[in-house]
Amino acid sequence: FFISFEGIDGAGKSSHIAPLAKALRAQGHVVTVTREPGGTALAEKLRTLLLHDEMDALTEVLLVFAARRDHLRCVIEPALARGEVVLCDRFTDATFAYQGAGRGFSPTILALLEQWVQAQPDLPDSTIRQPDVTLWFDLPPAVAAARLVDARQPDRFEALNQDFFARVAQGYADRAAQDPHRFVRLDAAQTPTAVWRQLLAALVCRGWL
Ligand code: C5P
Repeated sequence: FFISFEGIDGAGKSSHIAPLAKALRAQGHVVTVTREPGGTALAEKLRTLLLHDEMDALTEVLLVFAARRDHLRCVIEPALARGEVVLCDRFTDATFAYQGAGRGFSPTILALLEQWVQAQPDLPDSTIRQPDVTLWFDLPPAVAAARLVDARQPDRFEALNQDFFARVAQGYADRAAQDPHRFVRLDAAQTPTAVWRQLLAALVCRGWL
C-alpha cells in the first residue's frame, strides 16, 4: 500500500516517516521511503530548481508534475508492483495546497494534470494512482511559523508569508473534505509522542499494523 505524509512546513510530518518505516519493517513489510518533489535522480534535480529558482506558478506546476511522472514511473509503481509499502513525504495533495490554494493556480488544470500523470494504463480512464491513506499533519499556520523561526535556512517557499501558509492550510482542509476516506487528520499541535500515537491508532484501525 501507498501512504503519503502531508501538511504545511513545520507540521512535523517528516520526523514520523523513519519510525513508521521501522515499525512496518518489524511487521515483515518491505518498505520504500521516498519524497516529493524528488525521489529519483531527475526529480531531485527538479526539486533543487523548484526550491531555489524563481519561476511563475505555471512553470512550478509543470516541474512538480514532471518530477511526479518520473517518480511514479521509476520508483512508486515498481515498488507497489513488488508488493512493497511506499511511504511518500508529500504527493499531489501538496500541489493542490501549495500551487493551487497557496499560489492561486487553477485547481481545474491541476485536476487535469493529476488525471494525466497519475493515470493507470491498464485500468479504466478515470482510475488514477492515489495514496491509499494520506496522513495529514494539521497544524495552525501561526504554530508552524513559530516552530520554523529558529529552524534551518528557509527555502524560497518557507520565506513566504503567513497569509500564504494560511491559504495552504485551508487547501489541505478542502482537499481532506473532498476525500474523507483517504485522509487521516492528525492533530499536529500535540507533542511528537501524542502525534505518533494518533498515527499508529489510525493504521491499526485499518489493520495495517
Ligand atoms: O516537505 P519538504 O520540506 O521536503 O518540501 C520542500 C519545500 O517545497 C517546502 O517548503 C514545501 O513547502 C515546498 N513544496 C511546494 N510545492 C509542492 C511540494 C513542496 O511548494 N508541491
